[in-house]
Amino acid sequence: MRNIIPVANPKIDKKEAYQVYKTVLSKWITMGSNVKKFEEKIKKYIGTNFAIAMNNGTSTLDALLSALNIKKDDEIIVPSFTYISTANVVLYKKAKLVLCDVDKNTFNLTLEEIKKKITKKTKLIITVDIKGLPIDYDEIKKIKKKYNIPIICDSAEAFGSEYKNSKVGSQFLAHSFSFFANKNITTGEGGAITTNNKKLYNKLKIIRNQGQEGRYNHTHLGNNYRMTDINASIGLAQINKINKIIKDKNLIAKRYNKYFSKIKEIELPVLPKYVSQHSWYNYCIKVDPKLRDKLIRYLTKNKIETRISFPPIHIQPYYKKNLIFKKKDFLISNKIYSQIIDLPIWSGLSLKQQNYIIRKVSSFFTKK
Ligand SMILES: *Cc1c(COP(=O)(O)O)cnc(C)c1O
Repeated sequence: MRNIIPVANPKIDKKEAYQVYKTVLSKWITMGSNVKKFEEKIKKYIGTNFAIAMNNGTSTLDALLSALNIKKDDEIIVPSFTYISTANVVLYKKAKLVLCDVDKNTFNLTLEEIKKKITKKTKLIITVDIKGLPIDYDEIKKIKKKYNIPIICDSAEAFGSEYKNSKVGSQFLAHSFSFFANKNITTGEGGAITTNNKKLYNKLKIIRNQGQEGRYNHTHLGNNYRMTDINASIGLAQINKINKIIKDKNLIAKRYNKYFSKIKEIELPVLPKYVSQHSWYNYCIKVDPKLRDKLIRYLTKNKIETRISFPPIHIQPYYKKNLIFKKKDFLISNKIYSQIIDLPIWSGLSLKQQNYIIRKVSSFFTKK
């Protein structure tokens, strides 16, 4: 195999190209009817009353914090084991970032860890469905009952995942999704929020469009978070493929699990019972930290791309420089970070490529 096998690869063909072609020739290339159609399709797929599309996943999170009136010194609980956006949006508001350790099996927040961090100043909890694996929403909702703190979820990676037979996106006050090129479906850059809360939805629409209610009448401090009709047209073709994408990824995960379960040095991804469908944003194994980087080098040499996603927030240089963290608060995140490897998983990864990956991973451990 000459070319490197990428870790992710969007399922794009002439259908997306044709949609873009039509949109461009229509000359309506900013937010318009395609965005509306895309939102209709999203809310129908997820099963919520409302969906609102934006220009990327980070914007959806930032808009949510604006809509929820997050201000300076408000405390916001966020997992340390996440992508940078989840934490950055807290700093954009000058709010206080309260990082929380995660579960060693699901890599997600737990009720126990969250409770340790709740104070009188806690204004919001942002959970993450990391690697597309839903967090145990019903369990986390107990916080809402006891403390009445709003909970939103960064479900950027979980489009198409299911929790107890319903699509991720309706469980908390709001869920945000990303449609970046490596996500389950893509619009190039893009994102969306799903919610059943009409008031929140209406406010988000205002915030997305410069805080404007009626032309040049700015009632809120908004921003330009609008999705373009060009991006939405790609999304319209993509959302028709979501079932196929998820089916294909599940087949690959099943084959990986079957073969890698025979290798004692590999810890397979954990799938809790409440997950009725996993979208497999990543296929992430754990190995001994002493072998991890060697395995990565071996796979790279054999033209198989891997990723370590993500270095925890508390070790990011900007965060280390500007905030103070206690190392002992993040023992599990640190451990996970030393063990993980994402292997290629995408719809269209051929059986031949899958077998090649399985063979190379296996041969690393037998030769060692
Ligand atoms: C991709 C991602 C985001 C950000 O999405 P963008 O569309 O790249 O802004 C946020 N959180 C998580 C967990 C992600 O994986």
